[in-house]
Amino acid sequence: PIVLGIESTCDETAAAIVRGRELLSNVVASSMDEHARYGGVIPEIASRAHAQSFVPVVSKALADAHMELADVDAIAVSAGPGLAGCLAVGVSGAKSLAWAAGKPLYGINHVIGHIAVTQLQFGDFPKDTLALIVSGGHTSLLHVGDVAKQIDVVGTTLDDAAGECFDKVARLLGFPYPGGPHIDRHAQQGDPTAIKVPQGLTQGRAGREHPYDFSFSGVKTAVARWIEERQDVGLEIPVDDVCASLADSVASVLARKAMLGCEQYGSKSLIVGGGFSANSQLRAKLLEEGERCGVEVRIPQIKLCTDNGAMVAMLGVNLVEAGVAPSAPDFPIDSAMPLTKISM
Ligand code: ATP
Ligand code: MG
Ligand code: FE
Repeated sequence: PIVLGIESTCDETAAAIVRGRELLSNVVASSMDEHARYGGVIPEIASRAHAQSFVPVVSKALADAHMELADVDAIAVSAGPGLAGCLAVGVSGAKSLAWAAGKPLYGINHVIGHIAVTQLQFGDFPKDTLALIVSGGHTSLLHVGDVAKQIDVVGTTLDDAAGECFDKVARLLGFPYPGGPHIDRHAQQGDPTAIKVPQGLTQGRAGREHPYDFSFSGVKTAVARWIEERQDVGLEIPVDDVCASLADSVASVLARKAMLGCEQYGSKSLIVGGGFSANSQLRAKLLEEGERCGVEVRIPQIKLCTDNGAMVAMLGVNLVEAGVAPSAPDFPIDSAMPLTKISM
């Protein structure tokens, strides 16, 4: 099937066309620059940007694929989780298109789209695989029984997401939003053993109670305290070393727990997705640990890791192929859509 995918959960307005496992077009417009000076995404500004970009982005996705709306078999749109005002723009737009063109419409889960998109690069999922989703809003280990029908949560963060932790430390170091990529770059020149950064939920009692859960707020606090103590006595902050030590801690615990999960669930593969999977320290650590544990690690190219329309279209293709019913014409947005809910 040919599916048009539309994405507007946060600050990217994106649209793409997927035919089967083939990406025919992929257009992304970001309002990131408009938020940078506020240190975070401002929902009102993002919603307005979606309203302005929706028609040009969808039109370009169709044009790049040499298609008209009549040529697609279905439309998919992110129905959640995300910012309510942003979701409302994308979902209303998609409903209008579907109604006008008489096409079935699927309101899909954005986070599950981050998993589905790996098929464009690596092909269909191995049976009963685990997936690690790491993004600005989520850090979860999931069991993928069937990407169109059955997803179970194996572990999740008890507080901050990995990307959120990086963004908060980046702010302390004076990097503009989003700070994750800046930490990545500086970490490449630093010494990961320079500063002792704790690894959340790995030791003692809590470690046994939450073998697959994550916790990053303590990591952030530890780094923040270390920086403040040095600043208080007028010492210089070794930025590269702070970044390298933080990145090493976060990447290590993510890779270790993902591999532990694969072992327990008998999964010989690990699907990786979400904006934070663009992180080079995490990519290196996962590939290294995967090699050691005999687990095939599928991390897509960076363009497919961050928010895009291809992830939405790909999950839409999976839903059509699985014979899942389209969403009701009046389906609502769900800004807190649970990870076990694949479509509306
Ligand atoms: P969700 O998908 O959970 O709704 P989101 O859409 O906001 O959240 P993404 O766009 O998938 O999240 O990812 C954005 C996050 O990824 C930000 O926290 C950003 O700092 C982080 N990020 C992007 N590139 C890198 C990198 N190279 N290193 C570290 N973090 C990165
Ligand atoms: Mg974004
Ligand atoms: Fe995302």
